[in-house]
Amino acid sequence: NVKISAKDVQVFYGDNHAIKDVTVEIEDKTVTAFIGPSGCGKSTFLRCINRMNDTIEVCRVVGDIRIDGENIYDPKIDPVQLRAKVGMVFQKPNPFPKSIYDNVAYGPRIHGLARNKAELDEIVERSLRSGAIWDEVKDRLQAPGTGLSGGQQQRLCIARAIATEPKVLLMDEPCSALDPIATAQVEELIDELRKSYSVVIVTHSMQQAARVSQKTAFFHLGSLVEFGETSKIFTNP
Ligand code: ADP
Ligand code: ADP
Repeated sequence: NVKISAKDVQVFYGDNHAIKDVTVEIEDKTVTAFIGPSGCGKSTFLRCINRMNDTIEVCRVVGDIRIDGENIYDPKIDPVQLRAKVGMVFQKPNPFPKSIYDNVAYGPRIHGLARNKAELDEIVERSLRSGAIWDEVKDRLQAPGTGLSGGQQQRLCIARAIATEPKVLLMDEPCSALDPIATAQVEELIDELRKSYSVVIVTHSMQQAARVSQKTAFFHLGSLVEFGETSKIFTNP
């Protein structure tokens, strides 16, 4: 059950050859960790999967990336639609300066996922539940998202990503800005999300990769140097 397949992907920032040649297949209902030293291209490759690199002027992507067999770099694909189907969560929680409700409702409104207010309410509740934050915010949905704690903000951002019914969830060091308790909560949530999504998480922490992922991809100097089952990778000498 391959969800994402990348073939011969290269990325250039001007003359900087940041991704040299990456071919990989990423499964559905699996957490795949991207690990490796700073600057080896983990975030760059992650940003290929939702075409976030398109927003970086000097960045050029070569090669072929498919989600459910569909080439996401095909000219027919609208990157805005694509990003609804490939949710992204960043290192620093970045809720919109809007209410908790509107943070989650924003995407479904733009993409026309609800026919009326009752349906939108339902999507918001379901997404906040999936983000493991419903109980903490259900009595203050009109309060600003930015007023939550860091860990709550990150779970709100995960709920916001889920609200547009993505096929894939990308997370770029989602716990690096969080304290240990908030990190444990987000890691537990990631394990839950695995049951419904293909989750890709960039982390600089081998411990975190070992805790949350089933597959691990090791990057080094812009290449994928090892890819396999996390349990095997971390027990090899
Ligand atoms: P990481 O945490 O992935 O190692 P950095 O802290 O190095 O990333 O970079 C933070 C942000 O700056 C990222 O969005 C990255 O894409 C961007 N960035 C990294 N290197 C450069 C560069 N040479 N020029 C412009 N932006 C960069
Ligand atoms: P990692 O996520 O593994 O830390 P990055 O993907 O951030 O690595 O960086 C890989 C290479 O691409 C680095 O040489 C970095 O400087 C460069 N780079 C990353 N983001 C940008 C950017 N926005 N503009 C220019 N160069 C970048």
